[in-house]
Amino acid sequence: MKTVPAGFPGGLRLQTHKRTTSEGLSRLVPLPERIILPLQQHIGLPPAPLVKVGDTVLKGQVIADSEHYVSVPLHASTSGRVSDMDMYPVAGGRTLCIVIEPDGQDRWSDIRPTHDYQGRDPKVVHKLIRACGIVGLGGAGFPTHVKVHEGVENEVHTLIINGVECEPYITCDDRLIREKAEYVVAGTRMMAHALKAGRSIIAVEEDMPEAATALEQALHGTQDIELIAVATCYPAGGEKQLVQALTGREVPSGGLAIHVGVVVQNVATAAATYRAVTRGEPVVSRYITVTGAVSQPGNLQVLLGSPVGDCLQMCDCDVDGRVVLGGPMMGRMLEDTAAPVTKTVNCILVGSAATVSTAEQPCIRCGNCVDVCPVRLMPHELHQAARADDLESLRELHLFDCIECGCCAYVCPSHIPLVLDYRNAKEAIAAQERRRVGADRARARFEERNARLHQQQQQRTPVSAPEDAAERLEYVRQAAARNKS
Ligand code: SF4
Ligand code: SF4
Repeated sequence: MKTVPAGFPGGLRLQTHKRTTSEGLSRLVPLPERIILPLQQHIGLPPAPLVKVGDTVLKGQVIADSEHYVSVPLHASTSGRVSDMDMYPVAGGRTLCIVIEPDGQDRWSDIRPTHDYQGRDPKVVHKLIRACGIVGLGGAGFPTHVKVHEGVENEVHTLIINGVECEPYITCDDRLIREKAEYVVAGTRMMAHALKAGRSIIAVEEDMPEAATALEQALHGTQDIELIAVATCYPAGGEKQLVQALTGREVPSGGLAIHVGVVVQNVATAAATYRAVTRGEPVVSRYITVTGAVSQPGNLQVLLGSPVGDCLQMCDCDVDGRVVLGGPMMGRMLEDTAAPVTKTVNCILVGSAATVSTAEQPCIRCGNCVDVCPVRLMPHELHQAARADDLESLRELHLFDCIECGCCAYVCPSHIPLVLDYRNAKEAIAAQERRRVGADRARARFEERNARLHQQQQQRTPVSAPEDAAERLEYVRQAAARNKS
C-alpha cells in the first residue's frame, strides 16, 4: 500500500486519543423507549411527513419524502406506532421530529435486493441511493444522489472513498472498516458504477494499520481499487485536502471537488450503498464513537433516533461536563442529551476533552492562525470582519472557503472562539442572501402584475367601431372573446 504526504499548507499534528475506542468490538445499543427522528438530517430541504400520529409503521418504511432535488426521504428506524410529531431538541436548537413508540419487534418493511447491478444502467444504483436516504455519513450530510448526479454530469474520473478519520478522538470509521471491510469495498464498486468513474481510491490515515489490513484482505488482490494511506496530519480528511493529497489537484476557491474531476464519499456512505443494493436497506442505523469522560468508551451501532442519553448510559456515563456532538476540533455543543442520534452524528464527546472555555483575550496579531490554516485564509482578519458585521469584507476574505477545521482556534493564544465567529458570520450572510432572494422575487412579482394590468387596460381601451357591418360583427366577436378569456 502506498503512503502519500498530506500535501496541503498548514494543518496540525495533534495528540490522538483513539486507542481507547478503536480496539474493542462495536456494541449494539438496545431498542430505546422512543425513537425521535428529525425531518432535517441532511443539507438541503427537509422532507414532508407522510404519516400521522397513530399510524403504525415498519422498519425501513418511508415516513417523509420530498420532491426537491437536494433532499432525501426519511425512513422509520424500527417498527411501532407514530406517537407524536412536534418540535424536539437537537444540536443547535429544536426541530420538527416524528416520534415512534417501538413495538419491540423491529419488523422490516418489504425491502428487496437489486441483483446484477453491474449489468444494469448506472441510474438504477443512483436512484437506489436516493430512495434509501443515503447522505454523507462522515458528518457533512450532503445528499449522496446529488453528488453522484453532478459527478456524472461533470464526467468525473475519480471516486475517493474517505476513511481518513483525522479528528483526534473519533474512530467510528476505523471500527466500521475493521468490522465491515467487504461492505466498504463492494460499496465503492457500486458507487464507481453509478458514477461511471474510471479510477477508485479508498484512503485511510497512516495511523490506521488494522483498517488498512482489513481492506487489503477484502480486496483479495484485485486491482480495480487503489488503497492509499495519507500521512497523519489534521485535517487530512477534509474533502479538498484529501483531493489535493491523492491527486495533486487543488480545488479552486469557491469550487468543489467535481470541478477537478473527483467525487469524495465517506466509508460509511460506501457501506450504506452496499446495504442499499444488496438488501434494499435504507439508512436506519450508524456507527458512532462515545468517548471522553465515560467509563466504557467505545464504538456503538445505534438506530437513528435513539437518544444521546441512551448511548451515554450504555458507556456508563453520568454526564458531568459538556457534551459535544462530533470531535473536539469541529464538533458542536449539545444542550440536551434527550436529543437523538441522526445521520450526521459520528461521535459523542463528554467532559474535559470537550471543554474549551478559557477566557477570551484581544487578538495580538501573532499570526499563528495564518500559519496553520489549511486553505490559506487570514483567520484573524476574518475574525475582525465577523465581529464588525462587515459582510462585504468577509466575502472578500473568502469566508466560504473556510472548512471550520478549528486549527486557527486551537493555536490562538488569545483563546478567541474563531470558528464560532465564522459560523455566525456564514449564517448572517445566508440570512442576508435569503432576504435578497425574497425581495427579488417580490419585486419580480410586482413588476409582472403591473405588466399584466397594463396589458389588460390596453385590451379594454375603446376602439371606434368599423363602418362596415361585417367588420363590426367581427369586432364584436373579438371583444366577446377577450372578455371570456
Ligand atoms: S492566533 Fe489569535 S491572537 Fe494570533 S493573530 Fe490569530 S486571532 Fe490573533
Ligand atoms: S477554521 Fe477556517 S479559518 Fe480557521 S484554520 Fe480552519 S479553514 Fe482556516
